[in-house]
Amino acid sequence: MRRAGCRRAEEPSLTGRDARTALCHLIAILFVFLALPAHAGTLGRAGMEKQFPPPLVVGERDDRIPVWPILKQEAGSYEVIAYAFESIDFARIPGFGGTAPNLLIALAPDGTFRDARVTSHHEPVFLEGLGSEPLFAFVEQYVGLSARQPIRVGRPNARAAGAAPATTVDGISMATASTRVINETMLAASLAVAREKLGFGAVNIGLRVEAKPDVEPLGLAELERRGWVKRWQITHAEVDAAFADTGLSDPDPGAPEKPFAELTLAYLNVPTIGRAILGEAAHARLMREIGPGAHAVMVVSSGHWSPLPDEFVLGSVPDRLTIQQGGLTVNARDAAWERRDLAPDLPAGPWSLLKIGDAAGFDPSAPWSLSVKVTRERGQIFPEKVACEIAAEYRLPPELFTREVPDAGPSWTDSWRARGVELGIIAAALALLVPVLARQDVLVARARPFSLFRFGFLAFTLGFVGWTTQAQLSIVTLVGTVRALVHTGDFGFLLYDPPSLVLWGFVLVTLVVWGRGTFCGWLCPFGALQEFVAFLAKPLRIRQVTVPPRLDRALRQVKYVVLAAILLAAALGSPLADTFSEVEPFKTAITLYFIRSWPFVLYAVGLIVLNLFVYKGFCRYLCPLGASLALAGRLRLLDWIPRRPECGSPCQLCKVRCRYGAIEPSGKIDYPECFQCMDCVTIIRDPAQCVPQVLAAKRGKRLVPQPVAAE
Ligand code: SF4
Ligand code: SF4
Repeated sequence: MRRAGCRRAEEPSLTGRDARTALCHLIAILFVFLALPAHAGTLGRAGMEKQFPPPLVVGERDDRIPVWPILKQEAGSYEVIAYAFESIDFARIPGFGGTAPNLLIALAPDGTFRDARVTSHHEPVFLEGLGSEPLFAFVEQYVGLSARQPIRVGRPNARAAGAAPATTVDGISMATASTRVINETMLAASLAVAREKLGFGAVNIGLRVEAKPDVEPLGLAELERRGWVKRWQITHAEVDAAFADTGLSDPDPGAPEKPFAELTLAYLNVPTIGRAILGEAAHARLMREIGPGAHAVMVVSSGHWSPLPDEFVLGSVPDRLTIQQGGLTVNARDAAWERRDLAPDLPAGPWSLLKIGDAAGFDPSAPWSLSVKVTRERGQIFPEKVACEIAAEYRLPPELFTREVPDAGPSWTDSWRARGVELGIIAAALALLVPVLARQDVLVARARPFSLFRFGFLAFTLGFVGWTTQAQLSIVTLVGTVRALVHTGDFGFLLYDPPSLVLWGFVLVTLVVWGRGTFCGWLCPFGALQEFVAFLAKPLRIRQVTVPPRLDRALRQVKYVVLAAILLAAALGSPLADTFSEVEPFKTAITLYFIRSWPFVLYAVGLIVLNLFVYKGFCRYLCPLGASLALAGRLRLLDWIPRRPECGSPCQLCKVRCRYGAIEPSGKIDYPECFQCMDCVTIIRDPAQCVPQVLAAKRGKRLVPQPVAAE
């Protein structure tokens, strides 16, 4: 219902409306028809050979999935040292540019990342921003980590400073959300390949198995009887059988039934076993030294064959001993532990205490095996070495362990957890803003406190939302959304930037209630920056340039053209969308604090200076995000700005005072151009400013009717 005294809202000018309607139709048509095929890996054999040059050899591509074995010659034969693949073939997770990054990954047979490189990406913060080098360095951190562990992105420099767990990579300031997308891509693609080629997948990722602390003390003899300390004898006959197909005989033959090697094997983390072998104090020291999550396996040898060659270097990976589990080699190295702590009734031969790192994904509650490598030689002058492995299984009762799969949730939940405080502060600020905007009739009447509140809120928007939280909403998100809509159908990237997502949600709701002004007038950091700079115009005696009305109307349409060009390029999958998006100075002024190459800084500073002469000239004429909000704001339900019958005829005060040119000569509010600054609302509520009220007061009358908002 429209109340008496209200002025009927006039239709917008046909020219502007037609242009916007045509734009909406164009975008809708593009959304429907422009479904381009998704991208796939681009490196063929030649590309892989370039990435893995000799002495490495690129094997035959797997006939089911695009994975290339990378081989290296070891002891006369070629061994697979890694499986190379492109992430885009296995995980297309759109980044903030709307397209998925592509990584070249080489995964070793034990699940360790042997190589990781970025082959392509469209992350806006790195393109023409931070540059790609920080991203390349970020990805290199994965080399040496294991895909068996849930790798998380931590704070910048935490890992480098030794303040983060081994399964954490350092994030990048100003690019937290993008690095999480890269991390997700890296893990998702690697696990897909691991499932196919390495026999492990997501099921056991992050599984933490620990020995129970409270177990009965047992002597060494009882431990051996139970098989918890394993005595393993390898006879000459077994070694000969292993070499049967090679035609090589033992150069130093013993009686077949005589022992070739006698090994004692024990998993020391279980306190009953570890304390029986090392004693309580030494066992506690060992557990402290290897650290939480790591495992210690003892191998002691007696007999004439030694598992450790003479040239063995303490602390290195023993060539003759291999631990395997589930068909995979477990990364184990000598822990350089001194012999003096061993139980006296253990054999006196050479020994090694192997440490298995937390990242190896080793499960001591499941069976595993120890292989010993025995070598024989063929030929005299340049003898060829032939190696055979002989393995024995070791298993402990599962009751000795606790098993826990941490429920960490998908990786985007990290972002929400890590940014909880920022989200809380933003939510509190929004909760404060809503009643202020909703009860403007009461609050705006107090002009001075209200302008102080507005000043403080804009400072919060610029300082906290923009420069601290990096939650400047941007056309880049719309570009990513359009690309996801047309090409990938995956909008998951939005979840990696929680503060922006919360703000987007708030803006979408307030668009329907009040129009684009709630964001542009209160929550846009670059808008706030312009507003603060505009305060300088008066003390600097800078006179505002009055743009002639016709030119002003024409210039206002420019932002819609810019928006159309950007969205069209995004829908077509063109990289021009990223280039056109640079019309926004947000990345320069807010995300990168003006630390960027000079053309960008010059452009951003130029717009801010322009704002001193033409108030918010960028917002009114160029901003594609503002244009998109203005279009969406046409769904607005409320004409919330109060009007009097005198507004526009004869009174023009609000029109003259509106610095955004959002009031037409008729007094009608052009809501798509309104920034909800409340200046006109303050005037209409103020008996000392509102001209009809001033005149009525002079005549000694009370003015009726009261100002009301049109529906
Ligand atoms: S028009 Fe653009 S820069 Fe201006 S306040 Fe709105 S979104 Fe921010
Ligand atoms: S003066 Fe009024 S019409 Fe103009 S921007 Fe501010 S609230 Fe909107």
